Amino acid sequence: MTHVYNFNAGPAVLPPPALAQAQAELLDYHGRGMSILEMSHRSADFETINTEAEARVKRLLGLDDEYRVLFLQGGASLQFAMVPMNFLPPDRVADYILTDGSWSERAYEEARLIGEARIAGSTREENYRRVPEQHQLDLSPDPAYVHITSNNTIYGTQWHSWPDVGERMLVADMSSDILSRPLDARRFGLIYAGAQKNMGPSGVTVVILRTSLLSQGAKTVPTILRYATHAKNNSLYNTPPTFGVYLLNLVLEWIEASGGLAELGQRNQAKAQVVYDAIDRSGDFYRGHAEPTSRSLMNVTFRLPEEALEKQFVKEATAAGMVGLGGHRSVGGIRASLYNAMSLEGCQALASFMDEFLRQNG
Ligand SMILES: *Cc1c(COP(=O)(O)O)cnc(C)c1O
Repeated sequence: MTHVYNFNAGPAVLPPPALAQAQAELLDYHGRGMSILEMSHRSADFETINTEAEARVKRLLGLDDEYRVLFLQGGASLQFAMVPMNFLPPDRVADYILTDGSWSERAYEEARLIGEARIAGSTREENYRRVPEQHQLDLSPDPAYVHITSNNTIYGTQWHSWPDVGERMLVADMSSDILSRPLDARRFGLIYAGAQKNMGPSGVTVVILRTSLLSQGAKTVPTILRYATHAKNNSLYNTPPTFGVYLLNLVLEWIEASGGLAELGQRNQAKAQVVYDAIDRSGDFYRGHAEPTSRSLMNVTFRLPEEALEKQFVKEATAAGMVGLGGHRSVGGIRASLYNAMSLEGCQALASFMDEFLRQNG
């Protein structure tokens, strides 16, 4: 079997033990004579998986019944619409803090289709090299919620301390850094994340929301787009992505067995440091996009002096067994995604490659 270090931004690397268990159980799930793929979502086996996955997310985040965890479809992109559809009434405004030219802007644009959304902070003028500082925020006195993007997958920046929004409700798109570090989830009314970056395969979206919000959502929203519908039905309102939830549950099990979020947070810090060090010791050869205070531990983005060198970098890295390093089409350059399942060895291999590439081409 050939092995590569997979630096793709999403879908992305998954923990080998979770994949191995899925493979071992694929044809005959727990002696049932059939695959989990073939089972009813109403079966006791699937309900156990579903319940276990919700309990695991809550346990990892230290949450009790004050919160619900839902497994939905439609990706984080559907959440851009569902959040305002449910929680932005006609007489209120929602605040959006823009920290990247794709996801946070899309979330804002989607909210504008539904109600009154305003920009309460943005680093667009600086090409999103950092997240705003507290004094640069201009929050509404009483918004329905304040929306942030915790980690900016494309630009490679991340919030390292949360904005102080007072009593206002904080909503976060955590698609690319959920469960990558300790999190005080109680600061948030609602958190959503596509699973395909840090938690599992594509096709499942995890939503964590305050139970008290369920009775407050708009009542005229189509049934399938109401959080209350999915909460009432334990994410089984319609046929869920059963295999995705199953694999998500295996990844959650791996996170718990690895020591939980405190341990993963330390590992992720150490991993990112290895790659940022290679940037910093390169002189001006590798130029990080993010300002040091906003550097993402999940997505390391940088440019080389010329585009031709970037192409060569990606090509030679691929030949050396490091794949998925091309930057997003909107910003170019190089992006190394270092999600939970990326090993320290993978980061060290990349850093060595960067040193050698600089020696030959610098
Ligand atoms: C990938 C990503 C999305 C889009 O997720 P989909 O599941 O493809 O809809 C949204 N927000 C962030 C921060 C992302 O990284």
